[in-house]
Amino acid sequence: MRIYLWLIAGLLWPLAMVRADGLPDLGEMERSGLSVSAEKRLGERIMLEIRRDPAYLQDPEIVGYIGQLGQRLAGHIDGARQPFEFFIVRDPMLNAFALPGGYIGVHSALILAARSESELVGVLAHEISHVTQSHLARMFGKQSEMQLASILSMAVAILAARSNPDVAIGAAISGQAVGVQQQLNYSRDFEREADRFGLDLMEKAGYDTRGMGSFFERLLQFGRLYENNAPGYLRTHPLTTERITDMENRIAQKPYRQVPDSDEFGLVRAKIKAYDGTPGDAVADFSAQLKSGKYARETDARFGYAHALLRDNKIAAAEAELATLRRLKLESPLLETLAAQLRLKRQDVAGALQILRGAAQHYPHVRALTYALIETKVGAGETAEALAMTQKELQLTPGDARLHELQAKTYAMMGKHLQQHRAQAEAYLVEGQLDPAIEQLELARKAGGGDFYEQSQVDARLHELKQRKMEEMRRR
Ligand SMILES: [Zn+2]
Repeated sequence: MRIYLWLIAGLLWPLAMVRADGLPDLGEMERSGLSVSAEKRLGERIMLEIRRDPAYLQDPEIVGYIGQLGQRLAGHIDGARQPFEFFIVRDPMLNAFALPGGYIGVHSALILAARSESELVGVLAHEISHVTQSHLARMFGKQSEMQLASILSMAVAILAARSNPDVAIGAAISGQAVGVQQQLNYSRDFEREADRFGLDLMEKAGYDTRGMGSFFERLLQFGRLYENNAPGYLRTHPLTTERITDMENRIAQKPYRQVPDSDEFGLVRAKIKAYDGTPGDAVADFSAQLKSGKYARETDARFGYAHALLRDNKIAAAEAELATLRRLKLESPLLETLAAQLRLKRQDVAGALQILRGAAQHYPHVRALTYALIETKVGAGETAEALAMTQKELQLTPGDARLHELQAKTYAMMGKHLQQHRAQAEAYLVEGQLDPAIEQLELARKAGGGDFYEQSQVDARLHELKQRKMEEMRRR
């Protein structure tokens, strides 16, 4: 059932707001297919909904890991570059999906089901290829306005059922939803094309292409157990024996390559598990794993155990695991943020800062460390330093919403409200939220303070955004 929600919520729900919010109307889309800019706006709109979902995973270490895998693949795409954003939804159903505008979502269960990094990369490469081959735009292009309208009303009903899980309503909708689902599945041709381009992408990026074959084969075996209740991934990406054979023939023609998993693969999976279910269950699971010796790598199991203990507020036990991990010579930025978190639990802000400063020097490109360091500095009252850091980082990556938010938080601590609202406006803008951004700039104006130069900057930005808003209204 969840798959309908995601697919329909993912692809079509925001269309319900189309006419009200100034996106091109359905008729226009149907005539011209979906233009690149309309697709991007549609994707942004959908992401606004998804980011509000409590299942949307915010952990910068886990999200950063998936992003790094995905961006490495995307860096090998031929021709025009388009931006991609990778995100994770905490969900027990095996699924991954591409949304309009290059947003690619992966369910946490799928990350846990992968047996190697190359398997996980295989799914990402397949999804990226749906985007580069414009499969979504081509699917939309085939829908008539009537069809889209009926799917829309269904989507609204299904979303309503989600927050009101009445069994009778749910059953009635799922009966009709089969028909809707038929229209949303990728065609077999699209699937084969995504496999083919995905495999090439994996090869160019230096991964083991056999990962895609083995993972999809296991998904197919798994699906057979379910008959009509196949896991989400198989419903949206119809998988057949024929497709697997095709894939395997292609893989056989590619050079054999053994690629070891990165350390992060095991550590990130352990962290996902440590924050699943109740803290007590997570502690019990890892503890049983360590007692029975049933783990692929001891360091992964201990790392997961330490996080589960931290989450369960068993700080001394978590510190003991950290000490063991140091003895086992585990070296990873993930271990340093764990160490800093444990110091903070002991109210040792100076200790946490020292760990994070050292780690940020040792791993200068790890975003999660940067965020943690800035946040800890703000907490420690080192606002000037924190501010300098956000400014330096924003020069490198102006599209990082989290950095803008950290900057707003820092200004708030300093009592600089004009600058606070201005930074918050930029955070909203990165996520495509024009109205809240305008609102923040108006608050910045009212807050006063700042010098003449800063005030006129706010005025200029506000003028620009209002202009942009007018254009969107006109487009409607
Ligand atoms: Zn597919």
